[in-house]
Amino acid sequence: MGKTEVLAALEALIQRLELTDAQPFRVKAYQRLWEVLATLPPAAWQSTEALDLALRGQTGIGEGLRTTARTLYETGTVPLLEELKQQIPDSVVELRRLPGLGPKRVQELWRELNIVSVDALEQAILRGKLQGRKGWTPALIERVREGIAVYRAQRHLLLYVEALRLWEEATAPLRAAGIAPELVGEARRALPLVETVEGVLLNEHANKAQALGWQPMEGKRLRHPHLPVFLHLVEKAQWGIELIRLTGPAAFWETIRTRLPQKVEVFTEEAAFQLAKLPYILPAWRDWEDIVEVAERGQLPAPLTEGHIQGSVHVHTTYSDGADTLQAMAEAARALGWKWLGIADHSQRAAYAGGLSPERLAQQRAEIQTLNSTYDGTFTLLAGVEADILPDGTLDYDEGVWRQLDYIVASVHEKLQMTKPEAMQRLERALSNPYVRVLGHWTGRLLRSRPGYPIDERRILEICAQNRIAIEFNANPYRMEIDWRWVRHAAELGVSIILTTDAHAVFELEYWRSGLAVLQKGMLPPSLLLNAQTTPPFPML
Ligand SMILES: [Zn+2]
Ligand SMILES: [Zn+2]
Repeated sequence: MGKTEVLAALEALIQRLELTDAQPFRVKAYQRLWEVLATLPPAAWQSTEALDLALRGQTGIGEGLRTTARTLYETGTVPLLEELKQQIPDSVVELRRLPGLGPKRVQELWRELNIVSVDALEQAILRGKLQGRKGWTPALIERVREGIAVYRAQRHLLLYVEALRLWEEATAPLRAAGIAPELVGEARRALPLVETVEGVLLNEHANKAQALGWQPMEGKRLRHPHLPVFLHLVEKAQWGIELIRLTGPAAFWETIRTRLPQKVEVFTEEAAFQLAKLPYILPAWRDWEDIVEVAERGQLPAPLTEGHIQGSVHVHTTYSDGADTLQAMAEAARALGWKWLGIADHSQRAAYAGGLSPERLAQQRAEIQTLNSTYDGTFTLLAGVEADILPDGTLDYDEGVWRQLDYIVASVHEKLQMTKPEAMQRLERALSNPYVRVLGHWTGRLLRSRPGYPIDERRILEICAQNRIAIEFNANPYRMEIDWRWVRHAAELGVSIILTTDAHAVFELEYWRSGLAVLQKGMLPPSLLLNAQTTPPFPML
C-alpha cells in the first residue's frame, strides 16, 4: 500500500476509535502515528523495512504502533480497524464531516437517537427531533443544517493538499523510472478544491508506464491501477500547447487558441506563450477572466516565490491547544530558514481550546523573551495572541493585556451564525481596536463542511486599509482564506496579506507551501506580502 492508502486507513481507524469509549491516550497514540507517517519522505515508502526503520526512534512511536504501521503498509488494514468497521458503519463516521459535530455529539446521535447517516440527520432536523436536547441550541442546529448542504455539494472534491498527495504518490514510480509526467488541470491551477487529478505524459513513454501498471482508458489516456489519477498521452511536438489546453480553464484556452497559428509544433509552454505574443502567465492566474488583457498591458505582478517567505505568524503551542512546545515550534521555524515566528495561542475566552489567562500569557511572553536572548538576533519570536472577537465585537482581555503584546490576531470562533449586518457590526468594532494587527479567518469557512458567515468583503478590506490591519491568508487546507478572489481586491486597496499556517503542531508548519501556491492565485505583489520582510513586521504602527 502507498502513503495515501495507509493514511486513509489510519484516519478511518482514529475516527472510529473516537466514537467508542476508548481511552483518549489510545486515540492520541494513533494520531501521533498519523502525523509521523504524513511527514515521512518518499524513500520511507519503498519497503516494509524502510518504513520500519524510518519510524524507529521517533518520539511517541513504540513497538505496537510500528507493528500497526507495518501491517497497514502490507495489507491496507489492521484487525482493530476491521473490528471497528463491524461495529460502526461508514455512514456514521461521515457525520463527523459536518460542522459542530465532534465525537461526543456523533455518539449521541448514533447511540441515543439511532441517527446513522447524513440523510437521517437531515430528516431528524426537519422533524424537530433535536430541538430541546441538551447542548443543541437553535444556532448549532442551523449550522449543522447549512453544513449538510455544503457537504453534499463538495463531498466529492479533494482539498488541494490531498490532490497533490495523490499526484505525488501515483507518479513517484514514473519519476523513478526517468519518465516525468506533468500535472495539469485544477490542481496545477492551485484551486483550494479540486475535482480530478490529471497529468500529461509523452506518448512515447506510454509503454513504460503500462509496464508499471498504468492502464489504457478511452481518449488516449492512462489511469492509475488503484488511485483516482489519470494521464493524457501527448505527442512531443504538441506538448507546449496541450499543457495549456489541459491545464485550462476552458475559457483561458479558448483565448490562447485564437492567438496561435494553426498546426504548429510547440515543445514547451513558454514557447506557446511566445507564439501567442504574451508573457508567461502562471497556471494559478489563469482562472481570472481578464488575465490575458492584464498580461497584454504588462501589468502582471511579480510571482510570489518560496524564497519570499522569511517568517510567519499565528501558530499555537502547548500553552493552549497546540501539540508541540513553544521551543519546538521555534526550532521548526528556524529549521525552515525563517527569521521570525509569531506565536498566537488562544485567548482566555476560548476555554475549549485551552485559552490563556492573562497570567499564563505573561508567562509565555517571559519564555519568549528568554528564548529570543539565545538567538543572537538571527531569529525573533513575536509574543502575540489569537484573541477572540466576542459576540459584541469587543476583543478578549483588556488594554492592560493588549499593550504588552507584539501583535494580535483577531478571530471569530463562536456564535458563527450571523446575518450580514450582525457580522459586519461585530467585525467593524473589532477592527477599530488599535491593537489588532491581523484579521484572522475572514469568514470562518471550512471547505467541504462549513460556509463562512456572510460579510461585506469590500467594506472589510477598506477598513483594514484605513486602520493598517493585515489580513491573514490561513493556509490550513480546510480554510485557505481570505478567498483568493478577494486577495486581488485587497492588493488594489494596498492591504497587506500575511500567510499564516495556524499550525497546532510542528508538522502543520509545512502548510505554508501549499498555502503559498493557492495565495498565488490572488495576484498579490510581493511588496504586500508581509512574510517577505526579513525583519518582523510587527509592531507595525
Ligand atoms: Zn482560530
Ligand atoms: Zn488559530
